[in-house]
Amino acid sequence: MKHTILTGDRPTGPLHLGHYVGSLKHRISLQSQHNQTILIADMQGLTDNGHNPQKIADNIFNVMADYLAVGINPEETTICLQSALPALAELSMYYANLVSVSRLERNPTVKAEIASKGFGASIPAGFLNYPISQAADITAFDATLVPVGEDQLPMLELTNEIVRKLNAVAQQQVLVESKPLLSDVSRLPGVDGKAKMSKSLGNVITFGSSDDEIVKAVRAMYTDPNHIRVSDPGQVEGNVVFTYLDAFHEDKDYVSALKEHYRRGGLGDSKLKGILADCLINLIMPIRVKREMYLSDPAQLKQILKAGTDRANQKSQQVLSRVKTALGLNVF
Ligand code: ATP
Ligand code: MG
Repeated sequence: MKHTILTGDRPTGPLHLGHYVGSLKHRISLQSQHNQTILIADMQGLTDNGHNPQKIADNIFNVMADYLAVGINPEETTICLQSALPALAELSMYYANLVSVSRLERNPTVKAEIASKGFGASIPAGFLNYPISQAADITAFDATLVPVGEDQLPMLELTNEIVRKLNAVAQQQVLVESKPLLSDVSRLPGVDGKAKMSKSLGNVITFGSSDDEIVKAVRAMYTDPNHIRVSDPGQVEGNVVFTYLDAFHEDKDYVSALKEHYRRGGLGDSKLKGILADCLINLIMPIRVKREMYLSDPAQLKQILKAGTDRANQKSQQVLSRVKTALGLNVF
């Protein structure tokens, strides 16, 4: 079955290893068989960076370069820019009337983000609303499959609720429901061991990280606090270094042998961290070289983004028109 895939990223910084295992790997492997659109969600990026729009603007091409360097092929995947797609903002306005404020306030991901961002009582209205704009992003392309990390599940639930409500109001099938596609590592912890690697938390290894930065981040990783001498038996569960080896090392048998050795005692943290650092450097170094090459030619990046955005505008305007007609609003 051929799927229509929609997914995206906020241009709040260069992409990181969480994106890679949580979503990008799927996007790369699915792009040749399916109809895929990737959205650079700059408007969503502004919902918690309203006072710092330059940060969002500066990172659009960073994210573009990351996509191309990691293997997203613009001949197969439409890459587009959210703020240049007016249908998305319009759809959001219609959908906002189908969702209650308390429903938005109950969203567990938004709740956790509000707490970690320290908004206090000053939550930007746009931030509370961003799951609605995400529903607009997904439905504007008639997406059926959305490869995302686990943090996005509440957004997809809300999207399908909006789809069902709109179809009920219009008394016809206007929009289609979509399904999440989760990977084996749907929530990569940060290098600080915190629940999620995230640009906004700064606990990341990005595709732009230098070899030194990778080594430093791995050295600072949390292991087992009771594993003091090399000869001590160590704990694998909850040990961030092993979480990363499981996520990134290609030789699973080798990782199993390392775990056994660590549990038994005799495998030191610094040796183990050296193995992880080498593994991550092997993964990131070639991507970093390519992303620098793409970043050195912003005109090319702009042209690829413009071509994808033009295509995405055509599609999203069609869906907007369908929604307006179903609501009886296509007067002219
Ligand atoms: P921000 O902190 O600005 O929200 P982010 O690091 O959370 O940035 P997003 O742009 O919000 O990144 O997420 C883009 C996609 O990558 C989403 O599908 C999200 O689920 C996925 N993703 C992000 N971080 C992780 C992670 N640590 N593990 C798995 N998937 C992730
Ligand atoms: Mg996020």
